[in-house]
Amino acid sequence: MTPSTLDILPTPLEYSALSPEELVERIQRRKAELNAVILGHNYQRVEIQEVSDYLGDSLGLSQEAAETDADVIVFCGVHFMAETAKVLSPDKTVLMPDLRAGCPMADFVTGSALRRLKEQHPDAAVVAYVNSTAEVKALSDVCCTSSNAVQVVESIPRERPIIFVPDRNLAKYVQEQTGRDNIIAWDGYCYVHDDMVLEELDRARKAHPEAKVVVHPEARQDLLAQADFVTSTSGMVALAEEHDSLIIGTERGLVDRLNQRFPEKTFVPLSGAAICGNMKLNTLAKLAWCLDHRAYEVVLEEEVRAGAEKALRAMLDLSGGWRPATPEEEKLELAGVQPKGCGCA
Ligand code: SF4
Repeated sequence: MTPSTLDILPTPLEYSALSPEELVERIQRRKAELNAVILGHNYQRVEIQEVSDYLGDSLGLSQEAAETDADVIVFCGVHFMAETAKVLSPDKTVLMPDLRAGCPMADFVTGSALRRLKEQHPDAAVVAYVNSTAEVKALSDVCCTSSNAVQVVESIPRERPIIFVPDRNLAKYVQEQTGRDNIIAWDGYCYVHDDMVLEELDRARKAHPEAKVVVHPEARQDLLAQADFVTSTSGMVALAEEHDSLIIGTERGLVDRLNQRFPEKTFVPLSGAAICGNMKLNTLAKLAWCLDHRAYEVVLEEEVRAGAEKALRAMLDLSGGWRPATPEEEKLELAGVQPKGCGCA
């Protein structure tokens, strides 16, 4: 359904002059008119999380959205995440509130640069972390998440070289876990996680000696080696339910969300500087504007969409498809026995 044009304002700037209550009211009204769902990534601002229908990491969100009968998906995250939603829901309209919300890690590798590397290593299989553009996914054999990367790499014959894009930290972790010496790692990284350092961890530990430390797998190896738990954002949420005190090594948005949800517990960021500015580009005003104007729409060429879907489905086939984890599986993940989830992505 087309939204009524009566009170549509021209730019997000005009919306930012409205009160938060009015913005929320507009968002709810337009959402109902358009039969839309709002997906909010774990790293979004708290006020965006509060109006989201689903919260989580990008692949889980995209899969949840594909299951709904919504006509419109509004993805409050970064560009590659909205692309993933479009890949899995080709018949739905996918919108994002700010087109500039990209992911610097995903942008480390372009389609043309990957094509050149593939020409230099024609026998190599290409594994793309889900934090990559649809174009890069379409040029890849299989996708992976931070939790199933080891399993995905191990499914490839040992003698076959692997081009792994774009996260060098995850590539290094996989290399250590599998003992393979034929992984050609792209030199990309997530600045939010790569910038966290041991000195910050030591300071946080001194201030909160009772707290367990949980770190996201996009961080550097020296930090992962010091952590009590290494897990995705979804895994961190589950850990927060079980522990009273945690030092959390990931983006601040998740720590804010956990503090809001568990005000009686102590959750502190490993690094106060761990803020993804790209994720924070989305605001309530832009979200209201986006719904009123049905913009910005994410459009993919069918060849790219289908290629990206093939690489994503190859990953899902390897990891037994997707469905919500049972409580027992959540426990196994926390124990490090059976990891799932996909971190930022
Ligand atoms: S937190 Fe890192 S990986 Fe996630 S969107 Fe921001 S830059 Fe990209």
